[in-house]
Amino acid sequence: YGIPNFKMRKEILQDKLEYLERMGIEFVCNTVIGKDVTVDDLMRERGFDAVFLGTGAPVGGEMKIEGEELANVYQATEFLVRGNLEPEQLPENMREPMDCADKDVLVVGGGDTSMDCVRTAIRLEAKSVTCMYRRTEAEQKGREEERKHAREEGVEFMYLTIPTRFTGENGRVAAAECERMRLGEPDESGRRRPEPIPGSQFTLPADIVVLAIGYSPDELMEKTTPGLRTTPWKTVRVDEDYATTRPGVFAGGDNVNGADLVVTAMADGRRASEAIHRYLESL
Ligand SMILES: Cc1cc2nc3c(=O)[nH]c(=O)nc-3n(C[C@H](O)[C@H](O)[C@H](O)COP(=O)(O)OP(=O)(O)OC[C@H]3O[C@@H](n4cnc5c(N)ncnc54)[C@H](O)[C@@H]3O)c2cc1C
Repeated sequence: YGIPNFKMRKEILQDKLEYLERMGIEFVCNTVIGKDVTVDDLMRERGFDAVFLGTGAPVGGEMKIEGEELANVYQATEFLVRGNLEPEQLPENMREPMDCADKDVLVVGGGDTSMDCVRTAIRLEAKSVTCMYRRTEAEQKGREEERKHAREEGVEFMYLTIPTRFTGENGRVAAAECERMRLGEPDESGRRRPEPIPGSQFTLPADIVVLAIGYSPDELMEKTTPGLRTTPWKTVRVDEDYATTRPGVFAGGDNVNGADLVVTAMADGRRASEAIHRYLESL
């Protein structure tokens, strides 16, 4: 629901949900698997023969720098949800208005999520919107088209730069202390590793900071599902049939691949459903 309306109208999702309901699918909302009920409960007590885990990668990355706890420093998901939904559509603790009008907004991160954030900030009438990324545009992972739209709308891109500390006034963020970077040798992802340039520190005013530096799966499922194994990156281990290490439990999408794309999650879902069908027939 944080996906901005300028990118996808909520009615498209609503139509799809209604279509799936008409097909006979029952949606059980406001239930956290691993907290309200466990996978064990579903299989042993409620009689499900197979379970598919499509829980995504919802945990936003933290910078772990001083000042991150200041007011008006947001995780991308909270910023997008609050910036794109009406207060009555939000949980009570998020209803306080988020005032971006005439503010300097700094978005940290260079992927598609950061483009959603900068373009949302523009629509919330920010005075300035800066997208800060530690590498150059050549290494940026998101789509070029999104950056083009952002530039057309007035977003400033600040490459080869990281914030090292956020400073505040009266508990609210007021500025980001930053450092320039240069590219060194390639890292394990094959992209050249950014290295700080000594003596390049400077301060950037920022009334609102949004952290959009990646997502990872949460550990709830692993902790509450005996036999379910994950990788060091917290993604669920599956075989070529999307079967996890727990018999009868399958998984796919971002909780297996890490934060990725809708199209890969959909492809996983389709292939996993065929594998689940074969599994059920074998019982
Ligand atoms: C801001 C943003 C912008 C993006 N923009 C794009 C884009 O433009 N194009 C693109 O292709 N991709 C984009 N993505 C990525 C895309 O949204 C994901 O790759 C895709 O949604 C993954 O699908 P999924 O089914 O694996 O997980 P999700 O779509 O994340 O669905 C997981 C669902 O599981 C629920 N859930 C999680 N844990 C539990 C639990 N314990 N119990 C019950 N339910 C649970 C969640 O509430 C959620 O409804 C974007 C992502 C973000 C965050």
